Amino acid sequence: MDKTKCPLPNSKPYMPLNYINRAIESIRQGTAQKPNCIWLETSTCFGEIIALLDGENPGVPFLLTDLVNMTFFNSIMTDSGEAAYERILNTINSGEPYIFIVSGAIPLRSEGRYTIIANYEGRYITALEAVQTIAQNASYVVAAGTCASFGGPTAARPNVSQAVPLNQVLDRLIINVPGCPVHPLWILGTLAHIVNFGMPALDEQNRPITFFGLTIHEQCPRRSFFDYGIFASTYGSPECMFKLGCRGPVTRTQCPINRWNESDNWPIGNNTNCIGCASFGFPDLMQPFIRY
Ligand code: SF4
Repeated sequence: MDKTKCPLPNSKPYMPLNYINRAIESIRQGTAQKPNCIWLETSTCFGEIIALLDGENPGVPFLLTDLVNMTFFNSIMTDSGEAAYERILNTINSGEPYIFIVSGAIPLRSEGRYTIIANYEGRYITALEAVQTIAQNASYVVAAGTCASFGGPTAARPNVSQAVPLNQVLDRLIINVPGCPVHPLWILGTLAHIVNFGMPALDEQNRPITFFGLTIHEQCPRRSFFDYGIFASTYGSPECMFKLGCRGPVTRTQCPINRWNESDNWPIGNNTNCIGCASFGFPDLMQPFIRY
C-alpha cells in the first residue's frame, strides 16, 4: 500500500449526502417545499463558486434545479445590470420565504464603495447596503466560506478595504459555514438540513455541529502516528505533520471524510499540513503555515 495515500474512512457516516438525499425526496413527495434562495457574492476570490462548480455528487445543476429555487446568483445567471438587481427586489418583496447565502466579506471603508454589486436607477448599490437589505426579510442567512463567516483572507492584514465578516454588519443569527473554500457538500448539506428540519444545531461559532463537530485531528488517517509520537520532519513523509505546523488539532471540518473533487484530494492526503483555513482568525492567526 502507498503509505502517502490516506484510505477513505468508510466507517464514518457521509452526513451531508444523507441530508441532501432526504431533502430531495421530501420535495418530490411534496412534504417539504423548495425554498427561494439568493446567493450574493461580495468581496472574495470566487473560491466558493469554483468549489461548487467542481462538485459532482451532487453538482451545481442539482442545486439550481432540485434543492432550491435560486432566484439570484450573481456568478451564475443570465440576467445582468438592472434586470439582475430586480431579481433580488422581486424575491425580497414577494412575501415568500427565502434563504440568503453570502460568500465574501463586506468592505466598510468609504461607505462600502470598495464592492459595488449593482448600479440601479442611477445609484450604486454597495455590498454593505445589499446585504443589509436582503437579510431583513430572509428566513435564514448563511455565510458561505471563511470570508463571510470570519473575515478570512479578504479581511487579513493590512485589510485596506476594512472588510468585516457578515456578523459585524447584521444584527441577527447567521449560520457560519466556513472553509477556504467551503466544501460544496457543507453548503448543500446545510441547505438540505434547513429544507428537512429547519435551523441546524450550531456550535459556539454558529457553525452546524453536524459538519463542524469534530476536528480534523480526530478524524485524521495519520492520527496513530501522532499518538505514538512519530512525526514527519519533511514533506512527503507519511507520518504526522504536527511538527511541520499542522493545524488539524484546532480545525473543525469534515475534510478527511468529504475530500475534494470526488477524489483522494485533501491537504493531508496530498502531503501538506492543514493550515486551518476554516478556523476563526485564518489566515493571520494561523501563520506561519509551515514550521521546520
Ligand atoms: S497533527 Fe495533523 S497530520 Fe497529525 S494527526 Fe493531527 S491532523 Fe493528522
